[in-house]
Amino acid sequence: MFFVTFAQNKYGNNLTTTQNMANFNDYNFAGKKAIVRVDFNVPLNEEGKITDDTRIRGALPTLKKILADGGSLVVMSHMGKPKGKVNPKLSLSQIVDAVATALGTEVKFAPDCAKAADAAAALKPGEVLLLENLRFYPEEEGKPVGIDKEDPGYDAAKKEMKARQAEFAKTLASYADCYVNDAFGTAHRRHASTAVIADYFDDNNKMLGLLMEKEVTAIDNVLKNAQHPFTAIIGGSKVSSKLAVIKNLLDKVDNLIIGGGMGFTFFKAQGGKIGNSLHEDDLMPEALNVLAEAEKKGVHVQLSVATVAGREFSNDTEQRIFDTHNIEDGWEGMDASPASLALWKEIIMKSKTILWNGPVGVFEFENFAKGTGEIAKYVAEATKNGAYSLVGGGDSVAAVNKFGLADQVSYVSTGGGAMLEAIEGKTLPGVAAIKGE
Ligand code: AMP
Repeated sequence: MFFVTFAQNKYGNNLTTTQNMANFNDYNFAGKKAIVRVDFNVPLNEEGKITDDTRIRGALPTLKKILADGGSLVVMSHMGKPKGKVNPKLSLSQIVDAVATALGTEVKFAPDCAKAADAAAALKPGEVLLLENLRFYPEEEGKPVGIDKEDPGYDAAKKEMKARQAEFAKTLASYADCYVNDAFGTAHRRHASTAVIADYFDDNNKMLGLLMEKEVTAIDNVLKNAQHPFTAIIGGSKVSSKLAVIKNLLDKVDNLIIGGGMGFTFFKAQGGKIGNSLHEDDLMPEALNVLAEAEKKGVHVQLSVATVAGREFSNDTEQRIFDTHNIEDGWEGMDASPASLALWKEIIMKSKTILWNGPVGVFEFENFAKGTGEIAKYVAEATKNGAYSLVGGGDSVAAVNKFGLADQVSYVSTGGGAMLEAIEGKTLPGVAAIKGE
């Protein structure tokens, strides 16, 4: 049976939807205080200066719309892994000036995120308060401290911490009239500020921010609304880290391109000689399973047919091309060969939906980056011809950036872990807390 629920937007129009949530663009923030979870986990150098402000820039459209409406902002984020303790090196006080410059307005700072009620209450329309690193409190992540999973008493400690987490989330919620989650990078975590806090707002006063909306739409475009042929390009180093992704995609894609270091586990499992190439013996049965499942489901799997191998794992090592099932001892497969790239190009160019995760070679070495660069070009070209392309999850993002093609694909995801979990088919707690899915 299929259920459709009806919701109304602020103009009283019926919206046919399977969710019942506020829409960020329609929400009028005038006179409201909004608490916004952002991902300001920016890299800092030794002097505490930001070395890459992409994440701050990513949140600006959401923050600026709230201010432009005449709302005030309580902004909250984590930085690094302080493990529930105050660590001055991970203090968000270090980024106050950068956030102020980016927003074009003064930013006040609350040095204790759990004791910011007065500062929040004093905010006037157009004013901004940044809270100190949420992870200075163990309640943010909600994991029991100082006790191992195997220890007796762990379950009780976990229960107690969950109660403390709920209290912490309630305190954060008390600072504002509405809640916006714009931190896709932590959407796969059920933390106080990313999910639990949503329990303290009614459906009309909690929503995804603009960055989150874009990420969720991009994922839906490939996982729920894909145009066919749909091709997934999965590369990277290890089968183990991509197995769940591949398994979930087998029900959705027409073509699966498997490249990079993980390919060698497949070749060895098929009885090939892979020299010194990266591989995981214990995953060989799984690799064969994937191929058998793909065949059953009518998915065309295109592995690499030949590899550019190196004598040793270095940029300047001698290079030689081998058939992927016949690599001599003393050689290690490190990049995709022209023969593999030609096969992959044909598939990519015919695709209407493309999902790319993971480089097809050791792209950090200039001399072994060619294959990954070519894939980036094919994906960009297919996009120009009308395909929808999503690049996401860790190193593939670095790869499209490296080759200057990020603006020539349909969407580059900002959330590595969250993106991967979404492609694995897992529900993201940060999204579910608001959309109720
Ligand atoms: P992942 O994080 O699993 O997406 O893996 C990305 C890493 O895979 C990058 O650091 C690449 O250098 C590495 N990689 C890709 N192909 C190979 C290969 N043939 N041999 C070793 N490492 C590889």
